[in-house]
Amino acid sequence: MEITEVKVYPKKIVNDKKLKAFVTITFDNSFVVRDIKIIESKKGLFVAMPSAKITASCPECSRKNPVRNVYCGFCGVKLEEFISNNHEEEHRDVAHPINAETRKYIHDMIMKQYDKVLQEEKII
Ligand SMILES: [Zn+2]
Repeated sequence: MEITEVKVYPKKIVNDKKLKAFVTITFDNSFVVRDIKIIESKKGLFVAMPSAKITASCPECSRKNPVRNVYCGFCGVKLEEFISNNHEEEHRDVAHPINAETRKYIHDMIMKQYDKVLQEEKII
């Protein structure tokens, strides 16, 4: 598996200082993953894979709510008693590497392109 294209969209409007850029990558000219983020942490920049909010169905109206909601956002019923609290995370990766080698490969490819885009912006 090869990354054939990396598109980096640096964030221009700074309302979230930690979020540096959005990234789209293409594998083997045939599979695209969007909504990857470059985020700044105390340890430096890291690549966050696309994630989705974990949801649970309301027992009353069956609509999906984020797991941390205390009340249903649609019908207002209290959810605490119905939705178990054993979810450690509110978000879960939608797509992600499953070994260190692939993680490093993706990280390096994205960072290389990110640096290139930043350099090009300085020139312009
Ligand atoms: Zn409801």
